[in-house]
Amino acid sequence: MSVKVIMANVSGFCGGVKRALGLAYDACRQCAGRVYVAGELVHNREVMENVKVAGVKLLGDCDLKKITPKDALLIRAHGCPRGQWIKFHELFHTVIDGTCPHVDRVSKMVECESGKGKHIVVIGDKSHPEVQTLVSFARDGKVYIISSEEELYHLQGSLDQVLVIAQATIDESSFRSFANKVSKIYPHAEIKNTICGSSRRRQRAIMHFKEEGVQAIVVAGGIHSNNTRTLAQIARKIGLPAFHVETATDLPIQKLKTFQVIGVIGGASTDEETTKQMVADLLALEN
Ligand code: SF4
Repeated sequence: MSVKVIMANVSGFCGGVKRALGLAYDACRQCAGRVYVAGELVHNREVMENVKVAGVKLLGDCDLKKITPKDALLIRAHGCPRGQWIKFHELFHTVIDGTCPHVDRVSKMVECESGKGKHIVVIGDKSHPEVQTLVSFARDGKVYIISSEEELYHLQGSLDQVLVIAQATIDESSFRSFANKVSKIYPHAEIKNTICGSSRRRQRAIMHFKEEGVQAIVVAGGIHSNNTRTLAQIARKIGLPAFHVETATDLPIQKLKTFQVIGVIGGASTDEETTKQMVADLLALEN
């Protein structure tokens, strides 16, 4: 019997990644010098390889002495902390801002609200470049990054005015749970769900899979990509086996053969073609 495969109704690059990639390819065509990016443009190995082939170079310490006026620096979709932003503008004649407009909006919100005296609580991963960008915009160090509910209780009693926001790609139901707890500790806290639209749509698609009778989910995307990892975690949380793989060749075919209905979804930095290739390979399975 052949396997039924359902592809999520949301796939391909999110708006922020699409924009950053477009800027990278344009820069490679138009820039007379080298095009650098500080850190991975997106957390996806396949996409990064293509971008490097097009001419984008990862900026390393040894490059800093070689920069010429013809070279350009591209800021990635996650944005970059303020201090780095200043440094890049000192080093490069051309700085191309690939920051996702969503990250940019939330950064400005952090700057504005902390400027009014509020403490900013960011629910997210301390080491993620987007979170590091957001916190760098807080004035007077009035910012806290919270990754677990336990850390939340350590704040108790120490804050007056509070704004709670989210890293753009975290699990929306976890954010709500955090937000409820914050509201109990700080009844006047302002809660803003700053999970981006792309992440929300993909997370909802996982829930729809369950309603459609899917028995297992394949999540296509970079192993280090937060939004992709979150999709796999949500699937497991609702009781569906989830297989997080980067390319079609990584599909655990023998395990997947045991399911009759499989859902496939790509992360925000996964090329739609990669997801479609996985669907095609799974449709060829017989169990
Ligand atoms: S996942 Fe969301 S925040 Fe991140 S680049 Fe895409 S649209 Fe922007």
